[in-house]
Amino acid sequence: MLGVMLNAGGFEVVVGLEVHLQLNTRSKLFTGVSADYFGLPPNSSTDPFTLGLPGTLPVVNARAVELAVQFGLALHCDVLGFTQFHRKNYFYPDSPRNYQISQYDRPIARNGYLDVNGARVRIKRAHLEDDAGKSLHPEGSDETLVDLNRAGTPLIEMVTEPDIRGPEQARAFLVQVQAIAQALGVSDATPEEGKMRCDVNVSLRRPGEALGAKVEVKNLNSFRSVQRSLEYEITRQSGLLSSGGRVAQDTVGWDEGAGRTYLMRAKEGESDYRYFPDPDLPPLDITPEWVARLRAAMPRLPEEKKRDYAAAGVRESDAELIAGSREASQFFEAARASYSGPAQDLANWLNGDVTGLLNARGEKLGSSRLSPTLLAGLLNLVLDGVISGKTAKELLPEVLDGLDPSVLVSKRGLRQVTDAAAVEAAVEAVLQANPEVVERIRAGNSKAVNSLFGQVMKACGGVAKPELVRDVLKAKLGL
Ligand code: ADP
Ligand code: MG
Repeated sequence: MLGVMLNAGGFEVVVGLEVHLQLNTRSKLFTGVSADYFGLPPNSSTDPFTLGLPGTLPVVNARAVELAVQFGLALHCDVLGFTQFHRKNYFYPDSPRNYQISQYDRPIARNGYLDVNGARVRIKRAHLEDDAGKSLHPEGSDETLVDLNRAGTPLIEMVTEPDIRGPEQARAFLVQVQAIAQALGVSDATPEEGKMRCDVNVSLRRPGEALGAKVEVKNLNSFRSVQRSLEYEITRQSGLLSSGGRVAQDTVGWDEGAGRTYLMRAKEGESDYRYFPDPDLPPLDITPEWVARLRAAMPRLPEEKKRDYAAAGVRESDAELIAGSREASQFFEAARASYSGPAQDLANWLNGDVTGLLNARGEKLGSSRLSPTLLAGLLNLVLDGVISGKTAKELLPEVLDGLDPSVLVSKRGLRQVTDAAAVEAAVEAVLQANPEVVERIRAGNSKAVNSLFGQVMKACGGVAKPELVRDVLKAKLGL
C-alpha cells in the first residue's frame, strides 16, 4: 500500500480519467463508409446514415466490437455476455441525428484494472460509441461550417474509478493505456491527431473524508495538458478549500496558452440525456467462444514483454521503455535474434546512442534505414573484438544510413590490432620516447599513464584493442 499523498494544503488529490480512443477500423461504427477521412475534402466520407437522413438504419461494425473486446481483455475487464447500445440525446450542429449512439448500463467491458508504478487503478468500464463531426469557425468570418467526415467514426470510451492520486500518476496511466492500444492495434492513440483525448475529473479531500466535489476538465489533447491542468486545479481548489470556500461541481476547459481552466458550464446530470436502448440495434451476445478466439489472437502486451526482457537480464527502466513501444520492441526482439552478447548491450545502444541520434535527426526507428540486423552486426563486431566500442560509436551514423558495418570496417582498415607483439613494440617505443613521464609514473603519479595510453593508441593508428594496450602498458611499467 502506498501512503496517502498530500499536497501542500494537507489535502489528498483524487483523480478519475475518461479516455476516448479512435478505433482502427476501416469503416465507421454503424455504416460502411470509410473511417479514414484524413486529407479528404469536407463531407466526402459521408453517406445517408452519417447525414442522419430519415429511413436509414445502423449496422454494427463487427471489427469494432472485436477490438473493444480485446482492449477490455487487456485491461483485465469482464467482457462476457450481453451488451447493448443506447441513444444519448442532445443537439449539436455537428451531430445531425440529435443523439449519439453510445452504451449505458450494458457496456462491452467493465470492472478491470491497470497497475501503474505499483498502484492499482480500477477501470470502471469501457464502451463503444460513435464520434460527432466537426464545427469549423473560419477566421475572419462569422459563419460556422460543419464537416461530417468524423461523424460516426468509432470510439472507445474508457472510465477509471477515482483511484489516481496525482498528475504524475495520471500521466503514467495514460502512457500505459497508449502503449496497450498501440500494441493491440486497437487505436493509433495519438493525442496530437485527436485519436486519444482525455477528460480529467479532480477533487480534493482531507484524508479519511468522503470524496469532495469534482471539477471535470474536458477534451485535453496532450499528456502535458493533462498534467498541467491537474496541477492548476489542485492549486486552485486547495486555495478555495483552505480559505473556507467550496468547490463548485463544474465542467471546465483548459486554456493551454494562459495556463488556466475556464468555466464551460455547470455539470449536467445524466438524466438530462434521456438514455434509452436504441431500437434499431439488437443487443449483442458476446459468447465465451468468441472471447476465447479473440484472446488467442492478441499480440503480446507491453506488460508481458517487459517481464520477458527483465528476465533476459535487461534493467527494469530499459525494459519498460522498449516494451512500451511497438516499434522498439519489434526491433529489439529481431536484433536479439542476431546478437550473441548480453541483451542489456542492445538495450543500452537502442535507448542511448541510437535514440539520441534519431532524435537529433528528427527520425523514427521505423522509418530510418537502420535494421535490427545492421545494429546486431555492429555490436557483434565489438563483441568479437574486431572493433572497439569507440569505433562502433563512430560508425553508428553511417550504419543508421543503412551501411553495413563490416564492409565499413574492412574498407577503412578499422579492424583493431589485437596482435600482442605489435602492441608491445608500440608500447616499447612510446616508453623510450618519454622517459620523464615514466619517471613520474614510477614516482606514484598513476594518472600520467593516460598520456602514454593515448600515444600508443595513436601509434597503432587508433585501432589497437584498448584493453590490450592498457594491459601491456601496466605490465611494462610494473603497475
Ligand atoms: P459523472 O456522473 O459526473 O460523469 P461518474 O461517476 O460517471 O461521474 O465519473 C466520471 C469520472 O469522474 C470517473 O472517472 C470517476 O472516477 C471520476 N470521479 C467521480 N467522482 C470523483 C471525485 N469526487 N473526484 C475525482 N474524480 C471523480
Ligand atoms: Mg461521465
